[in-house]
Amino acid sequence: MQTYPIATIDLAALKHNLSELKQLAPNSNIMSVIKANGYGHGAVEMAHALEGSDAFAVARLAEGVQLREAGISKAIVLLEGVHSVEELQHAAQYQLSPVFHHFSQLELLQQTQISKPLQFCWLMIETGMHRLGISLDDCQHAFEVLSNSSLIEGDIGLMSHFANSDSVGDERNLQQLQQIHYAKNLYSTQISMANSAAILSMADSHFEWLRPGLVLYGISPFDDKTAADLGLKPVMKLSAQIVSIKEVKKGEQVGYGGEWQATNVSKIGTVDIGYGDGYSRQLSNVGHVSVNGQKVAVIGRVSMDMICIDLSTMEHVEVGQEVVLWGDDELPVEAVAAQANTIPYELVCQLNERVARQYING
Ligand SMILES: *Cc1c(COP(=O)(O)O)cnc(C)c1O
Repeated sequence: MQTYPIATIDLAALKHNLSELKQLAPNSNIMSVIKANGYGHGAVEMAHALEGSDAFAVARLAEGVQLREAGISKAIVLLEGVHSVEELQHAAQYQLSPVFHHFSQLELLQQTQISKPLQFCWLMIETGMHRLGISLDDCQHAFEVLSNSSLIEGDIGLMSHFANSDSVGDERNLQQLQQIHYAKNLYSTQISMANSAAILSMADSHFEWLRPGLVLYGISPFDDKTAADLGLKPVMKLSAQIVSIKEVKKGEQVGYGGEWQATNVSKIGTVDIGYGDGYSRQLSNVGHVSVNGQKVAVIGRVSMDMICIDLSTMEHVEVGQEVVLWGDDELPVEAVAAQANTIPYELVCQLNERVARQYING
């Protein structure tokens, strides 16, 4: 039984995108980022399909535990690290690899007893984003605490994160790179710096470990380039169905607040997706959907369970017919994000469990 709304996830496209990255950076390892439910695509399914990765990364402990309980055995890095003794113990029990970005997390190491040592741990250093990370001045001390801890086995990698990697040629990226090179000279250990945009635009940011998220899902991180321009294949297609078609007269209003008013006799379709599924309410009156490969407008406000679309220009259209919200040639998710005045990251992450996921292979 086909239930709508549905996100159709193409695992062959996902694997294609991973292999593109490997070709682009053959000397680097890949830590595939599958936080936030694999950017809305399903974390466990992404982990299985991305078995060609060298490691995985998630933001939080619970996301790592979910993957372990699903039988994923590769290294899983917790990008935000752990925040309590209990979390540290859980991380050890599930063999998850925390990032340490704050001295409070180093203190936890001294207060905690764990069953198995941690492996593949990372020190997050501050290079310019000023969100997470230990400053270069304090880095030496932090690195020693980690290296000397009996709770950690193996080398400590150094990680940092670009604040402006989607802005190609930005001076601030070069400044961050300089900082990480400075750290690399001090510690001679593995470095991880590059997210999607940096992987594609700054070869000198690759180092030993890449951290791609967005590009794996076939989405462009750049405003002026499509996924196809970058050799990527979109992974997700989001669709719903028309559940009602009706005619409204000139002057009649559609939806909450009556923000759309017919200037002529119009054919209105109601589609079973809304903000309660994670479809952005920002698309009210400005978004488009694709029906039979033709773009039509979202009219009126997005409701919790439904949107209305203008089918006036369409002849062969029926109740039950599929509507694509994004992910076909007419309507890439990047274009929908621009209409919603947001980024594609948010659109895909926002989809919740009311949206069924269907996995296909090509
Ligand atoms: C989310 C995240 C990534 C992946 O970023 P993309 O832009 O999706 O490639 C990499 N590193 C860190 C620290 C992150 O939080």
